Amino acid sequence: MNTNKVIVDGYCRQVLMDFVKRDYVLRSKPIASRPSSNLQIEGERFSIPSIISNAVVDIDKHSENINTIDSIFSKLQLLLCRHIVVRMLYPPSLKDVRRIFEASVSYNIHEMLLITNFAPQLYSNSLARIVLDSNRLKAMVVFNSPFDKNLDNIIHFYRRRMPKTTFKKESSEFVCNPWLYNESIRHNTYFHKKLYINVDGQIKNAPECPNSFGQIAQFFPSELLELVRSEEFAEFWHITKDMCCICSDCEYRHMCVDNRVPYSNGHGMFRHRVACTYNPYIARWQGQPGYVPVEQCGEFTPEGFVPDEERIERVLRGIAGE
Ligand code: SF4
Repeated sequence: MNTNKVIVDGYCRQVLMDFVKRDYVLRSKPIASRPSSNLQIEGERFSIPSIISNAVVDIDKHSENINTIDSIFSKLQLLLCRHIVVRMLYPPSLKDVRRIFEASVSYNIHEMLLITNFAPQLYSNSLARIVLDSNRLKAMVVFNSPFDKNLDNIIHFYRRRMPKTTFKKESSEFVCNPWLYNESIRHNTYFHKKLYINVDGQIKNAPECPNSFGQIAQFFPSELLELVRSEEFAEFWHITKDMCCICSDCEYRHMCVDNRVPYSNGHGMFRHRVACTYNPYIARWQGQPGYVPVEQCGEFTPEGFVPDEERIERVLRGIAGE
């Protein structure tokens, strides 16, 4: 059992973590004043050799990406990218799936996850052979399937739909590990070293980012290297949760992988356009009894969010039934 104390405006909060069960409990009690900011815990310096550590490639039925997948993987290999998610946004043919798996075997890709929609030809011995033969670290998830099935923990069929991009957070998605913690001290754990290629072959930092930097097919390897090393491409990489309004007060900030794009508030902090589903000032998730939006716990000012102790205490008393 490990104990990590975190103090935020208006609260003294303790997170008790059980790394064996991979679970934790929260304890909080009101405190009188804002503590000093030197509670920031220094992590070990986070460093990985990959220039890009993870990539997402989208393919639809009109996409050229399927025909250029070898070139895409070869360029990602150059960036030392070892973890790739390929999303096929259509019911693919066996030929297309084979093409992706064969390409992934030819390049030095450590882990690949292929996500796709169901087509009857995907539930076949020939597909199983393609995937199972490729390597245990390559996996496939098929959504919209007429059944739920798990084949050797490598091919998973799910009845549910392919998840769409969402900004909703749930406590169950948090994973506590020292690697993520150390990355979170100086980096944004979602945008850092990520690269996204959309169905048109356009390069972005992540699917949620507004800026695209051109078509992957147009880049010579050296130009791609230059691009991903540029400040422009890495705009969000170093915006930590401690630099974001509200998140900086949240006890989950070192385990939360948040895909919301941060925007500067012009006063040294960053904010998000979409609200999080967690209110850290009362330790309640949207949908839990007693949850209220953060707006009811303080004020948004140009400088950031200013929590209001009295309002928070009133909400907490209501939750406690006082
Ligand atoms: S407030 Fe920020 S750090 Fe906390 S759960 Fe929401 S997005 Fe994550």
